[in-house]
Amino acid sequence: MKKVYKACRICKRLTLDDVCPVHGDEKTREDWFGFLIINDTNSIIAKKADIKEPGIYAIKVRS
Ligand SMILES: [Zn+2]
Repeated sequence: MKKVYKACRICKRLTLDDVCPVHGDEKTREDWFGFLIINDTNSIIAKKADIKEPGIYAIKVRS
């Protein structure tokens, strides 16, 4: 079975789960573009995207 990453509309975190691990009730969706891998939350990219935890994030999530 193919693994499909899904994105949370609120925090843009990518996950294989159907709900966001941070926003328990928020259903994740497959309709997203591009992603950022954040290792260093002090990096300029992380600050620009307002990301406070390392992880993989979608650049854009359709709502
Ligand atoms: Zn979330």
